[in-house]
Amino acid sequence: AKAQIGVTGLAVMGRNLARNFARNGYTVAVHNRTPARTRALIDEFGHEGDFVPTETAEEFVASLERPRRLLVMVKAGEPTDEVIREFAPLLEEGDMIIDGGNAHFADTRRREAALREQGIHFVGTGVSGGEEGALHGPSIMPGGSVESYRTLGPMLEKISAKVDGAPCCTHIGTDGAGHFVKMVHNGIEYADMQLIAEAYDLLRRAAGMTPQRIAETFRRWNTGRLDSYLIEITADVLTHTDAATGKPFVDIVADQAEQKGTGRWTVQTALDLGVPVPGIAEAVFARSVSGHTDLRAAARSLPGPKGNVLDAKSAERFADQVEHALYASKIVSYAQGWNMIQAGATEYGWDIDLGAVASIWRGGCIIRAAFLDRIRAAFDADPALPSLLADAQFAKEIGEAQSAWRTVVAAAGEHGIPAPGFSAALAYYDALRAERLPAALTQAQRDYFGAHTYRRVDRDGSFHTRWGQDKSEVEA
Ligand code: NDP
Repeated sequence: AKAQIGVTGLAVMGRNLARNFARNGYTVAVHNRTPARTRALIDEFGHEGDFVPTETAEEFVASLERPRRLLVMVKAGEPTDEVIREFAPLLEEGDMIIDGGNAHFADTRRREAALREQGIHFVGTGVSGGEEGALHGPSIMPGGSVESYRTLGPMLEKISAKVDGAPCCTHIGTDGAGHFVKMVHNGIEYADMQLIAEAYDLLRRAAGMTPQRIAETFRRWNTGRLDSYLIEITADVLTHTDAATGKPFVDIVADQAEQKGTGRWTVQTALDLGVPVPGIAEAVFARSVSGHTDLRAAARSLPGPKGNVLDAKSAERFADQVEHALYASKIVSYAQGWNMIQAGATEYGWDIDLGAVASIWRGGCIIRAAFLDRIRAAFDADPALPSLLADAQFAKEIGEAQSAWRTVVAAAGEHGIPAPGFSAALAYYDALRAERLPAALTQAQRDYFGAHTYRRVDRDGSFHTRWGQDKSEVEA
């Protein structure tokens, strides 16, 4: 029998996705540039299902039923183009190349357009959940044509994570929409991780709590509205002791965060789209600051405040306030992420169901959280919601949190503890709320030095003041 799907690129992700398809009853053709990987997969896991091992590109393509579905799981970037150059000439009209790698959505748009000329569907697909997710059920974000999703969609839904029986996979939109949304997912993940790190830092240094106590606090939070995979693993990390030194594990890890680039892509794209995502940007910059050992060494002896560590009772109260700050800041960064998805959809003409995005992130992926149900509900209530902050329920909660949130941001300043995520989220919240912003002054300055003109609050039109002459106003 011919294979219903083929996977090329059998490193950790490709191998586990191939096994996931096979375990779900599909016949899976497998291929890898270096055939040893293909043989290893068959030797180790061949008994798990129906695999068709192949060595050459021709053999691989011939083993697939039509329309062919080729899932490419190779290193993102140039290798993806190489694989397309190798396989596309062997394919026929209506066949699909599915790219499950972490491609930049602009590359996906370019590849999709080129392959569409040849009648081939190119389906850029975000896959989240790492190697465990790939095997047991990832969150899957396919882009590409509606037509491709008709037969491919049910297969992807079958291997995806399930929450309350619903698959964590939906057609996001055409061409690069899937990779775009995956990128924003990763941006939100950066922001979430940064906020949790700030909560930890404040509890440790301002409230004087031990990693063990902080873990207990996080576990308690994880039974409530902050229930999420990231808080859960953070608590596990904080209770772990380093075997070699007996110290808390978190104290023996070098404090320089690395990144593979999807957070940076998110911020670069947000700047291009003109959509404010300070929560994600601060998270990317916080990692960058941590890695600048040169700058940190140069500044180490700069003075800071004396900030006394809180007594036990105040520490408990402070921990509750941090929970509010974390929750409010989280709402803000998700609001920014969703704005970015809306902006991308508008720019590229994607018809994205914003509530469905929340649904498919409830399982399989790194930011899975109970909270996403609430986002789904907000878009169910109003599909045209301009911001999550405008949802009545979120607005109420953030209103209840704001006083504690301000206390925490002030405490961070008083203790000299950096909390760029909490602070930027609060600044964004206050900026959106403000009756008047000092942007008025910015416009006046621009007009002063560059005659860039300004609009008035009381009349239509553009105006310029002759600053260097008699300061009379002219209509521009
Ligand atoms: P890698 O990113 O390490 O890529 C290794 C695979 O790519 C191998 O099969 C390798 O073949 C193949 N490859 C590299 N260059 C070429 C080329 N020029 N032509 C053909 N094949 C090539 O593997 P991962 O499994 O970690 O990731 C696969 C994709 O999934 C990547 O795009 C990654 O970004 C993405 N991804 C990864 C996640 C993860 O948690 N790791 C999560 C979600 C997505 P060979 O054996 O011959 O060297």
